[in-house]
Amino acid sequence: MDGRHWMLLELAMISGVSFLKFKENHWFIFEEYPGICRLAIKSEDGRELRSFRFKDEDESQEVRAVERRVLLETLASRLPPDAISFSSKLANIERSENGETLLELEDGIRISAKILIACDGIRSPVAKLMGFPEPNYVGHCAFRGLAYFPEGQPFEPKVNYIYGKGVRAGYVPVSETKVYWFICYNSSSPGPKITDPSILRQQAEQLVRNWPTELINLINLTPDDTIIRTSLVDRWLWPSISPPASTGSIVLVGDAWHPMTPNLGQGACCALEDSIVLTKKLAEAIKSKRTSVEDAFKAYGSERWPRIFPLTVRAYLVGALLQWDNPVICAVRDNIVVPKLVRLGPVLEHTNFEFDPL
Ligand SMILES: Cc1cc2nc3c(=O)[nH]c(=O)nc-3n(C[C@H](O)[C@H](O)[C@H](O)COP(=O)(O)OP(=O)(O)OC[C@H]3O[C@@H](n4cnc5c(N)ncnc54)[C@H](O)[C@@H]3O)c2cc1C
Repeated sequence: MDGRHWMLLELAMISGVSFLKFKENHWFIFEEYPGICRLAIKSEDGRELRSFRFKDEDESQEVRAVERRVLLETLASRLPPDAISFSSKLANIERSENGETLLELEDGIRISAKILIACDGIRSPVAKLMGFPEPNYVGHCAFRGLAYFPEGQPFEPKVNYIYGKGVRAGYVPVSETKVYWFICYNSSSPGPKITDPSILRQQAEQLVRNWPTELINLINLTPDDTIIRTSLVDRWLWPSISPPASTGSIVLVGDAWHPMTPNLGQGACCALEDSIVLTKKLAEAIKSKRTSVEDAFKAYGSERWPRIFPLTVRAYLVGALLQWDNPVICAVRDNIVVPKLVRLGPVLEHTNFEFDPL
């Protein structure tokens, strides 16, 4: 690209879903994916506590649910052919004396990089090299799956949340044939890694066995390879204490820098926003020739931190509130807070991110 040599290393395009919320921010690339019009909240006994229409709050509000595989394929389709080197697992990383970064891949290939943009997720070895601590487990885990309806799924374009005691769930259609669902539950520890889909399915069903039957149906219609369990983690980027987003010519993007809990549905959205801001800063540096790449990385970190840090804290607090298991507090939530006090505006406000088209 542009006479420079870039390599995009990727371990795998794993599945999952991203629930993207946009407001007037030119994400034309996602326009073909299903728009979600409403949000409904139910209690575990199936009572509808509240329902909102997004456009009633703000005509410009857009919500889209995009399957992770589709999102990655869409983004990858805009790159030159062969730009992504798949199955390239980073095994080791070191700083060399000439200021470059030495990357060693699992298959033995060694690469010396002048610039490294690391978007390698929550367990990023690059973040570790830069002095970031491991993300913190926040006391909740989540099951996720993609139910498949070969004859077409029957749901409205609506996000459905169901609140229980210490357990909450949700589902949303992501295409004509697929429906994403999640169940979030309290657990004092992340527990052992389980990959057997029949055990995962059984555990997920157990959590919602007396809930509205649509959830159990969705779990039953979920192919084995799309059901996963994840422990929820985050990392708070304390000012002056946490390392900055970049060190010299290495920069972090997305979860590698700022893992946040999914309670606001913003992790992937923020990773996309990061990439836009970073692209702009780099383009300005390359065009003007007065700013170095290192300064462009620093400017990116300074611009993004005020958005990322409060969102990470807010996502944590929202999770702590929604995962309450005290029956009295849950009764107040179901009978007063959700039906009478919750407003859609503050729920969507964090999704506002506006930028000029690139
Ligand atoms: C239960 C749950 C629900 C969520 N819901 C939402 C939501 O509704 N909306 C939303 O916006 N976000 C949501 N998120 C968050 C979202 O999934 C993440 O924030 C997002 O995936 C971060 O993107 P990323 O590209 O930074 O990292 P990742 O998506 O984790 O991608 C990292 C990539 O790096 C690659 N990689 C990792 N290690 C290596 C290595 N050693 N060598 C080479 N490659 C490597 C991996 O293959 C992977 O493709 C949710 C998360 C969870 C857990």
